[in-house]
Amino acid sequence: MKKVVKFGGSSLASAEQFRKVGEIIHADRGRRYVVPSAPGKRFSEDTKVTDMLYDCYQSAGNAALLEEKLAAIAARYQEIISGLSLELSLEEEFAQIREAFAARSGSEYAASRGEYLNGIIMAAYLEYEFIDAAEVIRFDEDGVFDAELTNEIMQKRLQGVERAVIPGFYGAMADGTVKTFSRGGSDITGSIVARAVHADLYENWTDVSGFLVTDPHIVEDPATIETITYRELRELSYMGATVLHADAIFPLRKEGIPINIKNTNRPQDAGTLIVESTCRQPKYTITGIAGKKGFCAINLEKDQMNSEIGFGRKVLQVFEENGVSFEHAPSGIDTFTVLVHQDEFMEKEQKIISGLHRAVEPDMLDLESDLALIAVVGRGMRATRGTAARIFAALSHAHINVKMIDQGSSELNIIIGVRNEDFEHAVRAIYDIFVLTHL
Ligand code: ASP
Repeated sequence: MKKVVKFGGSSLASAEQFRKVGEIIHADRGRRYVVPSAPGKRFSEDTKVTDMLYDCYQSAGNAALLEEKLAAIAARYQEIISGLSLELSLEEEFAQIREAFAARSGSEYAASRGEYLNGIIMAAYLEYEFIDAAEVIRFDEDGVFDAELTNEIMQKRLQGVERAVIPGFYGAMADGTVKTFSRGGSDITGSIVARAVHADLYENWTDVSGFLVTDPHIVEDPATIETITYRELRELSYMGATVLHADAIFPLRKEGIPINIKNTNRPQDAGTLIVESTCRQPKYTITGIAGKKGFCAINLEKDQMNSEIGFGRKVLQVFEENGVSFEHAPSGIDTFTVLVHQDEFMEKEQKIISGLHRAVEPDMLDLESDLALIAVVGRGMRATRGTAARIFAALSHAHINVKMIDQGSSELNIIIGVRNEDFEHAVRAIYDIFVLTHL
């Protein structure tokens, strides 16, 4: 078995957490490639090292303040090094960082040092080879991640390397300029490494025992998802569910490598297995429920719309020209609705309204704001009758008015629009009917 293991910030926040990670790695010889995040929070009011670095870089122009902030960051690492009784000094690295900050190396370089330094400590602790991600993860001249070139470079570099630590979150352009992924991007690094080495499994270690059926801020102690497909996960992540970075799926899609979300503090828990496809039916018909608030619906009505070829295209073009992406576009016979993110839309509102009048001359145009979208996702829906009926019965019993329904023909998800203020209540009602009453 060849495994790539990624550890999140909370799994590496202190020497004690490092020890747990060491035990996990040593418990399985297959755990050969390790991708660490930067040290995260040790307690809830603590600050992540990545945030300390962004903040520190802001002070690059003020020598005294810069020194003070760098010292606080160095102390975080020193606490780990001493706690692990390692013979390691990061003095040279900090001298380089100080110099690079003074030369205004950029906030992405600054943030990347969190993973870089943690990688050096991890490699020393495990006695694994350290490979700088700037060497093996490549961004193009526009700063866009270059998946194929990276795969080539990474494969070559890791050939014959039995065990290595590769820090997460960053890479570099051909000229050496360091670039980072978006926040939480160490998950992506883990996927990239897993693809390059043709791993049997990508283990993503965090502080929860897997992916939950819904948001624990809305439902108390929700059930854990045992198995989920990439597609389901993508839908849920897009709709706001966190745990794994949404872009971490793409590198693995090409290889069909499963991901196991595991809990560093409870390694005995099975966690969630994320797979390309599976015959295993989900326990509750639905796999998960996620959602977001803050959408706005633009409703258009026009007599004989249905026979007007090109109507939809002209409408969507107005949004495109104004740089506003649309989420859904449910249509009726003579009606057409476009759902967009309210904050994006608001800036361009009047331009879009006049653009629509010019483009399609609707009989009626109205706006409805403060809507929430809920995605009920599940591969099991395809094989089960009555899923939609159960969702809407639950919402009706909860006295929630459904503003919009959208079910793709893949039957993988049903999207429901409700008012913002009904959002939490609606999620609970759907959760209850599928999971608690297990209908
Ligand atoms: N350290 C980075 C962040 O805080 C990346 C990561 O942890 O995945 O976003």
